[in-house]
Amino acid sequence: MNLELQPEEQRFREEVRAFLRDHLPEELRRAQSLNTGIYPEPGVSGPWQAALARKGWLAPAWPVEHGGPGWTPVQRFVFETECALAGAPLVHPMGIRLVAPVVMKFGTTQQKALHLPRILSGEDYWCQGFSEPGAGSDLAGLKTRAVAQGEDYLVNGSKIWTTHAHHANRMFALVRTGADSRRQDGISFLLIDMQAPGVTVRPIATMGGDHDVNEVFFDNVRVPQSWRIGPEGGGWECAKYLLEFERGAGMSSPRLRAQLKRVGDALQAMRRRGLEPSAAVEARFGEVCADLDTFEMLELRTLARVQPLQSPGPVASILKLRASRLRQAIAQLGVQASGLEATRWPRQEAEADEDDALLGTLLPDFLNSRAFSIFGGAAEVQLGIIAKTVCFSIP
Ligand SMILES: Cc1cc2nc3c(=O)[nH]c(=O)nc-3n(C[C@H](O)[C@H](O)[C@H](O)COP(=O)(O)OP(=O)(O)OC[C@H]3O[C@@H](n4cnc5c(N)ncnc54)[C@H](O)[C@@H]3O)c2cc1C
Repeated sequence: MNLELQPEEQRFREEVRAFLRDHLPEELRRAQSLNTGIYPEPGVSGPWQAALARKGWLAPAWPVEHGGPGWTPVQRFVFETECALAGAPLVHPMGIRLVAPVVMKFGTTQQKALHLPRILSGEDYWCQGFSEPGAGSDLAGLKTRAVAQGEDYLVNGSKIWTTHAHHANRMFALVRTGADSRRQDGISFLLIDMQAPGVTVRPIATMGGDHDVNEVFFDNVRVPQSWRIGPEGGGWECAKYLLEFERGAGMSSPRLRAQLKRVGDALQAMRRRGLEPSAAVEARFGEVCADLDTFEMLELRTLARVQPLQSPGPVASILKLRASRLRQAIAQLGVQASGLEATRWPRQEAEADEDDALLGTLLPDFLNSRAFSIFGGAAEVQLGIIAKTVCFSIP
């Protein structure tokens, strides 16, 4: 793999930098830098997504026929890196990165025409309804039931840990439509209107102090059968395909590098307060840098082989595991680097100069980072997948 940027790729990087200079407002950059939740609020991600959509850059991994820019993997990497280093808000992934590939692969022509443009335009904000009380790692144990009634389903049950359900107007959900002997065969993939009568969203507060996740309850919620993706009982195939995109088809290394740069900024802020980092912190910083470089190589090598709409396969579990461990290592380093300063949280708005504001994000970010080895499938589950499907297939 040639890691030198070719002249046309360097020109592309300049184009991306110019776009960021002209279209990324300071208030969005600052809001993203102070965000400690899993994703920025829609008031932050929305305007940025709209700017990208106008330019045709919102969905880098989509095929051109559906509105993707037709970039090479290197262009995608350059774009993601420049956005991350410029501090651009994270694009909300549920529509663009998760449900869209499923609609493209398993959806009918009408479903593609209905849902894909609304994802690009930002009209629809999606959440993921997979986990339930009693069905997380053992997802096939889910109990939310959809019973056919005329042209609709009546949905009853509940979901949990649903990220940004309180913002979403659409949910993609796994529901039980049959009682087949193999539990996976009785599951269907359903799109649900979150504004339909009978849907209730209840917040769950996380230890970082953010409101990211929710419980969602369904009480006789009517969903048209035409909003089922794939055949009845075919939801497990859709879910497995989606999870590979969730775990490994994004580009994590640019955001991880931006996160590490923030820790470097925190070290500088500490120096401005006359506090030099210890040798142990400097050594750990070096180790994390080296780990990140290695991860970046693995991610690039994997994604260079993946065409639009192609999932990376079980290797996604390796990427997910490594990315979540790195994310946690960087967040931990941030807290170590800022010592007692990190514990002065939450900060009063009035005292928050730039350094204060940055240092004030480190502890909630550390607390929230614990979730990275849980959502999208727990780390132990990824290790099981790696052992079964990746290691055993090595000749
Ligand atoms: C912040 C956050 C956001 C989330 N967002 C969403 C969302 O938007 N939509 C959604 O559907 N879900 C979401 N989740 C749920 C997430 O996917 C589940 O929490 C996860 O799959 C683990 O399931 P569980 O919580 O039921 O834990 P369990 O499955 O009960 O696991 C508990 C422990 O047992 C271990 N364990 C379980 N099975 C095995 C095994 N086979 N081998 C080894 N160890 C095992 C696990 O690793 C874990 O440590 C979110 C979770 C968090 C924390």
